[in-house]
Order: sequence, then structure tokens, then C-alpha cells
Amino acid sequence: MSKFLSVTLLFCLFGTLVSQSKATIAPPQSGNAVIMTRKQVPILCYHQIRDWRPTDSKVSKDYIIPIAAFKAHIKMLADSGYHTILPDQLNDYLTKGTPLPSKPIMLTFDDTDLDQFTIGRTELKKYGFKGVFFIMTVSLGRPHYMSKEQVKQLSDEGNVIGSHTWDHHNFKKFTGKDWEIQLDKPTKKLEDITGKPVKYFAYPFGLWNAQNLPQLHKRGFKLAFQLAEKRDENDPLMTVRRILDSGYWTVKNLNNSINHSF
Ligand SMILES: [Zn+2]
Repeated sequence: MSKFLSVTLLFCLFGTLVSQSKATIAPPQSGNAVIMTRKQVPILCYHQIRDWRPTDSKVSKDYIIPIAAFKAHIKMLADSGYHTILPDQLNDYLTKGTPLPSKPIMLTFDDTDLDQFTIGRTELKKYGFKGVFFIMTVSLGRPHYMSKEQVKQLSDEGNVIGSHTWDHHNFKKFTGKDWEIQLDKPTKKLEDITGKPVKYFAYPFGLWNAQNLPQLHKRGFKLAFQLAEKRDENDPLMTVRRILDSGYWTVKNLNNSINHSF
């Protein structure tokens, strides 16, 4: 066989192989499509933990859980065999399929309220639970809010500190200097306090828009947490869902919601 012929034959064979592989092997699913197929981990969101006052509005009681109810809810989770997980574990599970403990759940606390330290931390510790605390840095050290030292203590004890902006403005409206004021500076501040990187973010009011999500990726955030809206199928890591553990709920209501919302 001449050299020319054998080279031509090789090309033909190679061409056939390439066209066959194109025809028979389906393109791999993209990372986001895989993430969307994984079962969502239940994530609860808390704000104030205190008894209701006559001046509390009907709507605000969704965000204020009475102390006895909070204690009963956390006890129910422990008695039911739930294991709290942290955002690094959730990220590994979503992006790499790393297995989670049985009955995983995440407990998150927004807005820096002091009762999350005095009551939240104490109840979680009883059961060996860990939580995620999304801090708005403007409130640090103000009356009824946590101090820097308390935030550092939570972090040192194995809880995770995330960002909840500087002063709780709507993420959808961020523009220009807002990125520095609401994201960059709070991240730096929380990293200085805890001595650890800040990789997780919670949207004020749970509000987000697809157009602004690249700003979080650009800054190295790994996951961002909303409330119970549908996830963005093109960016599920930046639209992780949570439900409010309402002050109106019994332990039975909470159990039903965990089972039906995720
Ligand atoms: Zn908030």
C-alpha cells in the first residue's frame, strides 16, 4: 500500500469514528441541569426569636417566632433525627454529588438579631446543631443586635457567618457604588471579624434578579440564599430556596412544610 493511500485511509477511518461518536453519544448535561435534578435540602429561615407584643402586625408574626415555639421546633427536629448541615456541605452535594448525612437540614438566621445569639445559639447547642448567620453589618454592636465579638464566637464555635449586605437594601436595585457598599465592604468586615472567608450570601427580603447574579459569581460567592420562590434553572447555586419557620406554626405545621416544600 502506498504511503499516500494509507494516510488517506487513516483520515477516512478517523473521520468515520468522529462522526459516529457525534451521532451516538449524547452531550453531557451541564452542571446546572444536574444540580436542578438533585433533591433540595430543607432550609429554614429565622429572624426574631421573641414573644409576640400587642404592637406586632399580623404579617410581622411570620418573622417573629415566640421563644417556646422556637424551642419546640428545634427539639422536634432533633427528636426526628435531623442533622444540621452547613453551606460547604450543601455546595459539595449540589456541585459534586458528595453524600450528606441522613435527614439533612439547614438552619439559617438573618438580620443579626441579638436573640439569635442568646436563644438561637443556646437551643442549637443543646442538640449539637450548627447554624448559618447572615449578618447585615450596619447593625453590629447596636442595641438588640449582635456585637462583633458575638459574631466571632458563633464562627469560632463552628457556625457559619454569611453576608446579608450592609443595610438591607433590595439586591435587584443595586447599581454602581452599591456593589462596593453592599457587598465588598461587608464581606471584608466579616472576614476581618471571623478570620475566615465569607462565601455565602442571603438576599434582603429574599429578592433577586437574574441580571445581577453574575455580580455574586464575580466576587467568589459559592451559594446565595433566597426565600421560597422558584430557583433560576440557569443559576440554581445563586437561588437556593429556604422557607420561613413561621411564628404561627405548630411542630406539625413545620414538619409538613419541610416535607412538602423541598
Ligand atoms: Zn433580612
